[in-house]
Amino acid sequence: MTPEPLALPETDAAESWVKERTSATLTHVRELAEKLRTAPPSEATEVLKAWDELSLELGSLGGLAGLLANVHPVEAVRTACEDTEVEVDRLRTELTQDQALYRVFADLPAKQTDALDPLAKRLLEKTLQDFTRAGVDRDDATRARLTEINERLTELNLEFSRVTRDDVRITLATPEQLDGMPADWLEAHPVNDKGLVEITTDYPDALPARMFVKDPAIRRAVTVASLERGWPHNEAVLKEMFALRHELANLVGYEDWPAFDAAVKMIGEGPAIPEFIDKIAGAAEGRMKRDLEVLLDRYDRDVTGASAVSAADALYYEELVRQEKYDVDSQVVRTYFDFAKVHQGLLDVTGRLFGLRYEPVSDVVTWHEDVSVFDVYQQDGDEPLGRIYLDLHPREGKYKHAAQFDLAPGVQGRQLPEGVLVCNFSRGLMEHDHVVTLFHEFGHLIHHVLGGQGEWARFSGVATEWDFVEAPSQMLEEWAWDADVLQTFATNAAGEPIPADLVARMRAADDFGKGYHARQQMFYAAISYWFHKEQPDDLTKRLEELQAAYSPYPYLEGTHFFANFGHLGGYSSAYYTYMWSLVIAKDLFSAFDRDNLFDPEVAGRYRDLVLARGGEKDAADLVADFLGRPYSFDAYAAWLVS
Ligand SMILES: [Zn+2]
Repeated sequence: MTPEPLALPETDAAESWVKERTSATLTHVRELAEKLRTAPPSEATEVLKAWDELSLELGSLGGLAGLLANVHPVEAVRTACEDTEVEVDRLRTELTQDQALYRVFADLPAKQTDALDPLAKRLLEKTLQDFTRAGVDRDDATRARLTEINERLTELNLEFSRVTRDDVRITLATPEQLDGMPADWLEAHPVNDKGLVEITTDYPDALPARMFVKDPAIRRAVTVASLERGWPHNEAVLKEMFALRHELANLVGYEDWPAFDAAVKMIGEGPAIPEFIDKIAGAAEGRMKRDLEVLLDRYDRDVTGASAVSAADALYYEELVRQEKYDVDSQVVRTYFDFAKVHQGLLDVTGRLFGLRYEPVSDVVTWHEDVSVFDVYQQDGDEPLGRIYLDLHPREGKYKHAAQFDLAPGVQGRQLPEGVLVCNFSRGLMEHDHVVTLFHEFGHLIHHVLGGQGEWARFSGVATEWDFVEAPSQMLEEWAWDADVLQTFATNAAGEPIPADLVARMRAADDFGKGYHARQQMFYAAISYWFHKEQPDDLTKRLEELQAAYSPYPYLEGTHFFANFGHLGGYSSAYYTYMWSLVIAKDLFSAFDRDNLFDPEVAGRYRDLVLARGGEKDAADLVADFLGRPYSFDAYAAWLVS
């Protein structure tokens, strides 16, 4: 029997629904914990099952609240969900610091634990590790302090993302100053009663403005407004966050936060992070310099005597070089990416690749009319594997970036995996970048669903090491760059598919920036690592130094980008994971035949050996199972210089 999908509440009932569900679930989880603590099952497997059930309940509530806090149109619901997230985190901390519960696992007789199957053994190991990382073996005063720290960190995280999300800034421009903007954007943005057009810092405004507006003052204003979101408020939030993370790591026996965080990742150790950052920065240096010279040459024709391209002008001149040198005009490119066709194309392409079909579900309540819902099936199956929700356009109060949210983790026969894509795309023509983003995020969604068919909640879906989790998504981006694939759905208003030679030029243009792009990423990774490692007093000064060391563009005087660098919340010191995953993604992709990206044998093996396994094995082993050898840096290095 397939479990029933979750039934979401109507808008008016949502607030009370969330509150009731929160209180009922938390009570139930406490009961499960009490039972396990006082009358544990006699068999090790049953002990693990009871704990996994508890984790599933808690994780599902956390996932639901995390989603609705970021997408629900009613502010009171978002607030209620934030409260739920705080409660879930609080209970999770309480349980993993519960010494009586810990003893239930730690005291399991060896005769029983030796007899566990490999997956259950792995689960026991991970569970014990969760307990010790939470400080279960520390004294009462330490555990009390850890609880305090965790609670405060949850609040700070929420505050940081709320401020980043809600601080939308507006640049005003006369219609003349907007020369260069796409016609459809201008049409959708009429002048206000003062005769001015509003450009918000939301992606669908800020990105085209920075790419296309000819007036440098407007580009600068929009760039600065984007970099200043969340400042000054978030500076104090971040400083407190860094200090508390450091203290937490110390209390459970680690030298600093990055060491604590890296211990459960592929990279393994804190100091390996700056080594990796410098390895990538070094590998990208030659390529960056070569490409920056080209960019500067073009820049110099407009801004005489400039020694570097300003960050406020970078996107615009990258776009110009793409047009002039590679003959790629983004405004022409976007005529092939009509949202509705891209949406259908995404489903067709991923369905074919992974042997799936998506059935639209219309008779279901969601949180907003923009949301579309599909049930996922094996191509020839009749039992759903999971349910996906696509919430793809911006609106007030909604999460500003692009991400996959777990709505419900899947456990075979117990709970259907459900996931949600939350993005901010235009309703009309899309930038190709956004098409790539859509494929990327969908990669997480499909990982969540395919990996949600296993036996244990602890290993469900994307529950793999965090520095691996981007790899499947980054690999799926390749399909959004392949001419044969694109031509199946990317057609213009006249129905003509995107020309293969245009795609080839787009790829060449994209390759053009990969050196400095890698360096920009290492700049972000360095902020994420060093801010946590050092907790500098003057964040702006340290940002300037790191920008000078890694970024292709000089620091923009008076700006405070860290205040809205959202990943400092969730990824903390581990922003390097995007690049780490990319190295793995390039390695994984090397197994596919470029001339036949849909080869069912390779795609099927990848689906079954990597995606479907969720967190059942260490990521390094999943990759080795698929590639038939350990992962390596070679494919990435070759790609970087090619
Ligand atoms: Zn991602």
